[in-house]
Amino acid sequence: MNTADPNTRPQTGGLLSIVIPCHNEAEIIQATHRRLQQVLSSTGMNHEVIYVDDGSRDQTLRELEKIVASDPHVTVVELSRNFGQQAAMSVGLSEARGDATVILDADLQDPPEVIPQMLTRWRNGADVVYGQRRTREGETAFKLITASLFHRLFRKLVPYRMPVDTGDFKLLDRAVVEAICQLPEKRRYMRTLVAWSGFKQEPVLYDREARSAGATKYSPLKLL
Ligand code: UDP
Ligand code: MG
Repeated sequence: MNTADPNTRPQTGGLLSIVIPCHNEAEIIQATHRRLQQVLSSTGMNHEVIYVDDGSRDQTLRELEKIVASDPHVTVVELSRNFGQQAAMSVGLSEARGDATVILDADLQDPPEVIPQMLTRWRNGADVVYGQRRTREGETAFKLITASLFHRLFRKLVPYRMPVDTGDFKLLDRAVVEAICQLPEKRRYMRTLVAWSGFKQEPVLYDREARSAGATKYSPLKLL
């Protein structure tokens, strides 16, 4: 991978892309967008928000159409069926045009208020800024144990630096997005590809709250 050049990074302004994979999130998506809008208007950057509807069977698409009609910064990509979160994030990344792109869950477990801290670290030279969970609310014991074991085992198996206690909530510099989009992998696991790509990674700590509404889309079986 080529390295990214922090000197070409806009110190003010620039375009920020937000990518949000959504599967059956009708109950929460309006609240998510409102909270995100407040944060985005405070960043001083132009922005675009890309919602990827991953084959939702509820009213998510209808709700997203309402958001598009009222906010010119928003695009919605509609997938033909449920391909899974990883594929939905990939599609969103391929649409993103930002100098920086943030991937965010739709359920407010990734607090948008952390984005300004991510931007500061990025402007100071980090290519990837990952949200690292200081605390984690509202998860089952099964989820906490499997996630912890998986992260720690995986870290030992791979020859590159793999941060623990992180999910998909992260900021990626333009160079990282382009590198990931060029990879030939069809079935992607975004967290490992980002770590594998070797760009300069830095954490921002945050407290992960419980889902604001709806239920996790991962049954224990799907999680395994
Ligand atoms: N998601 C998706 N496709 C799926 C499953 C989930 O796009 O098949 C989205 C979901 O809408 C949310 C994010 O991926 O924005 C994380 O899902 P979830 O909150 O259910 O996972 P958890 O936080 O329980 O790990
Ligand atoms: Mg969640």
